Amino acid sequence: MPDYQMIKKELEGIAIEDNPALVRQKSRDFYWYSPVLKRQLDSVTADLVVTPKTEEEVIRTLKIAYAHDVPVTPRGAGTGNYGQAMPLSRGIVLNLANMNKVREIHPGRVICEPGIVIAELDRQTKAHSSQELRFHPSTAQTATIGGFIAGGSGGVGSITWGGLRDLGNILRLRVVTMEAEPRVLDLTGWDLTKVSHAYGTNGIITEIEMPLAPAYDWVDVLVGYDDFMDAVRYSDALAHCNGILVKEIAPIAAPIPYAYFSRHKPFIREGQSVVALMIAPHAMDPFLAFTRQQKGEITFRSDTVASMKGIPHAYELAWNHTTLRALKVDPTITYLQVQYPGPDHVAKVAKMVEIFGDEVPGHLEFIRFNGQIQCSGLPLVRFTTEERLEDIIKIHQDHGCPIFNPHRYTLEEGGMKQTDAVQLAFKKETDPKGLLNPGKMIAWDNPDFDFSAGKNYLFPGLAAMM
Ligand code: FAD
Repeated sequence: MPDYQMIKKELEGIAIEDNPALVRQKSRDFYWYSPVLKRQLDSVTADLVVTPKTEEEVIRTLKIAYAHDVPVTPRGAGTGNYGQAMPLSRGIVLNLANMNKVREIHPGRVICEPGIVIAELDRQTKAHSSQELRFHPSTAQTATIGGFIAGGSGGVGSITWGGLRDLGNILRLRVVTMEAEPRVLDLTGWDLTKVSHAYGTNGIITEIEMPLAPAYDWVDVLVGYDDFMDAVRYSDALAHCNGILVKEIAPIAAPIPYAYFSRHKPFIREGQSVVALMIAPHAMDPFLAFTRQQKGEITFRSDTVASMKGIPHAYELAWNHTTLRALKVDPTITYLQVQYPGPDHVAKVAKMVEIFGDEVPGHLEFIRFNGQIQCSGLPLVRFTTEERLEDIIKIHQDHGCPIFNPHRYTLEEGGMKQTDAVQLAFKKETDPKGLLNPGKMIAWDNPDFDFSAGKNYLFPGLAAMM
């Protein structure tokens, strides 16, 4: 057991919290969306929360933690869904929320600290020069930009710009290493893949340079269809319209909209599937013409509704907010993350709808993937047992629809089911003692782990905590 009295003394001058209830609060994220992770991670907690205000305080904290062999798990706002920010080996939670300054804004780019909340970053770039981030998670109102880069993938705006791992969607990251004498590295180009979506396992991001796009007062629209597949075909056709500027296209199957979108319920009929959309104000005329031609029913428009008071943004019906809204009404629901590789993505969706019906109510996100329009899905799952959940995953995979499993806390199992050699090599260089966010990179703990054997990985440190 590390000597925390000594550690606290050495950290003097930096904000720390050791009240067990408050430490436990900052040791959670939205892991409980998954009944599997809820069972596995419920008892996880750190020993100490450290909240640096500057890069110099980050360096000091890492140096002290390294000297005492104490694990450090970075945290933005804790809105991740896979226990990414949860300290599986106790130790320190490094809360970056107070490193929240915007440093510079230029035409097409912004430089900021990692802890700024994404909506606040957009507010400042918009006020400065009518610019905004190219895309953001649906948690923009609470999540930090650092947490998005280290733990997220894409979101609202990905229909135009693709995802975080696409070259050019992050410009530069400044990273502090976990060594006896922490180094500060500036990463650009392909080197950015070393730390983006690495869950903070191989460096602490202390400065971020992101590209910007023109900001608009996006109009929220809901388009209704009686048949979910009509909504999907409309979404696909709209996504392929070259001239209509959209930021979000999410078809969502009945009964989800009427049953779970409480604030939008007055605008939705029972049994109606909807497409949640964000349209640039100057694109509304062509958009309406297109939607009329496609026989879509406009059920809601934020630019004509009497009052938006109490009505959430359209993007807060989409991405994992769809799941959140369903969970608020029916806590037994969970979800999956599915890819429907093109060019026959619509046919793949139709097949899954036919197989599962209301056991897996559909929810898709149209995105640009390697230059092509595609859809990925976050369908709901009416959860019964972990065995049935595994069956549902297998049936998707057997039909050519890969699953990014949101019921796993490791990078590999939640992603491509293989080691990311670049991230592993970087960890060897930056975190020789393996103290950063332990248990999240299987390749570090168990290089011989066989992903094809169909077994789930159980981090030994976690087993000890359970
Ligand atoms: P955290 O959850 O605090 O951290 C995420 C990961 O990053 C952790 O592994 C943490 O250790 C690491 N980390 C945090 N800060 C740093 C740092 N400075 N340096 C190194 N590592 C760091 N995700 C999407 O991609 N798109 C979506 O549209 C989306 N929608 C969501 C909707 C809901 C309702 C919920 C609950 C989640 C959603 N998410 C989505 C997941 C999550 O909200 C986002 O990825 C979010 O950007 C994470 O930011 P955060 O500040 O909460 O990060």
